[in-house]
Amino acid sequence: MVPNTKRSAPKLSKSRYLSGLQCHLKLWYECYERGLMGAIDAGTQAIFDTGHEVGELATTRHPGGVLIKADHFHHEEAVAATLEAMANPKVPAIFEASFLHQGVRSRADILVRVRGGPWDLIEVKSALDVKDVNVNDLAVQHWVLTGAGLKIRKAGILTLNREYIYDGKRYDVQELFKLHDLSDLVPGMAKDVAKNVKAMHTMLAAGKAPAIEPGDQCFDPYDCPFYEHCTRDMEFPEHPFDELPKLHANKRALLQSLEVESIEDVPKDFELTELQARVRKCVLSGKDHVGPGLAAALADVEHPVHHLDFETFMVALPRYKGTRPFQTLPFQWSNHIQTSAGKLKHDEYLCRTDEDPRKEFAETVIESLGTKGTVCIYTSYEIRILRDLAKALPKYAKQLAAIEARCWDLCALVRDHYYHPDFHGSFSIKKVLPVLVPGMSYDKLAVQEGQEAARLYVEALMTPDAKRRNEIHQGLLEYCGQDTEAMVRVRQALAEAVA
Ligand code: SF4
Repeated sequence: MVPNTKRSAPKLSKSRYLSGLQCHLKLWYECYERGLMGAIDAGTQAIFDTGHEVGELATTRHPGGVLIKADHFHHEEAVAATLEAMANPKVPAIFEASFLHQGVRSRADILVRVRGGPWDLIEVKSALDVKDVNVNDLAVQHWVLTGAGLKIRKAGILTLNREYIYDGKRYDVQELFKLHDLSDLVPGMAKDVAKNVKAMHTMLAAGKAPAIEPGDQCFDPYDCPFYEHCTRDMEFPEHPFDELPKLHANKRALLQSLEVESIEDVPKDFELTELQARVRKCVLSGKDHVGPGLAAALADVEHPVHHLDFETFMVALPRYKGTRPFQTLPFQWSNHIQTSAGKLKHDEYLCRTDEDPRKEFAETVIESLGTKGTVCIYTSYEIRILRDLAKALPKYAKQLAAIEARCWDLCALVRDHYYHPDFHGSFSIKKVLPVLVPGMSYDKLAVQEGQEAARLYVEALMTPDAKRRNEIHQGLLEYCGQDTEAMVRVRQALAEAVA
């Protein structure tokens, strides 16, 4: 409900506080007009679910700890239960401990009792590193807890430990997690937290939404779910200056200060890289760029030409023996093989069982690629995976290194020798394909991009529903197959452009 007169502000929570740090209007919408929010997509939901799973596992580091069960709709009950648990010296730790201070509610992931009265405050993150937003999160909690009268000895963020290697049996939760002690940093942020909270409360009590234009803040640190609403009446240029590849932040800021919106408006004497200048030239002329070296670069292949693509996934909690948190594991490849006569053959592999796919993946891809011919890839991602595989499977290291030596990056070739204004500043195969091969795109596929493929692969691992699993596997095969067929067609289209 939107207030139309001045009134007392609603309570903040740590997530609302973080929203307010990102943008006051985002906080306003979250408090009064949540219905304007875009739907939560399956990828974001999967991230939330993983966060809960990791959070729960982290609590097992503190046996005997008490969980405050009352949810955020029953905050007063949660605070009362927290006080009760704190008063019981036999409770060594409290999970989801709840507090209120100056209109800010907070639930601490883990609060550990320290001998002599103080507490250790621990926030759990399903990540390997600490980001600025996590520090702000801890700082507001520290401010609430100390404001509520607690003495905090240590305050830190518990992430997963990238060095931990799973033995395949059970997690060693002391080793699986890593504590980043921020006790020296967050108490010093209290003044800023108090100032920010005051400003947010004042804004929320003002009776009307703050006037804030969409800008860089809409994507930092999170993509704002109100973006569609905020930009509903805005008209964007067909070629915003953001399409200039690898535009340095300083130049970006300079163009913004000059109120430049489109590539067409970039001043003639504005310093650009060679590639940026080419993009601008194509946009201004409305024509594509065919570099003088394109024909020679295209001809620099040996037949049979293999067109290779890998799909990978990663999970926060290692699933197989010998793997680490968030380790990238390849689970699928596709190879379209083209002979010198232009004949095509398609090989593919998808791991369909819940086991470490790397050995079978390596063996099958080595067999499919053989020892002859160029291996056409799109970006150097496949090289990174080949190197990781070689490290994990020394037995195949020589063969994998030999494959790497045959790799030939089609994306680099496009970037160096060809541009079309409809690429809109991107050289991803998803952008390049429909421009060079009209009628062929990813729009109608059940799986449309790599992150979605990874998420669906994990869903297939978890689901007990064989029909759903089969459906996902079919979608994955179609998607990865399209990636390699796309490379064949892009090479062909480029060859026609120089014919
Ligand atoms: S889309 Fe941007 S301007 Fe609108 S609420 Fe979100 S962050 Fe603020």
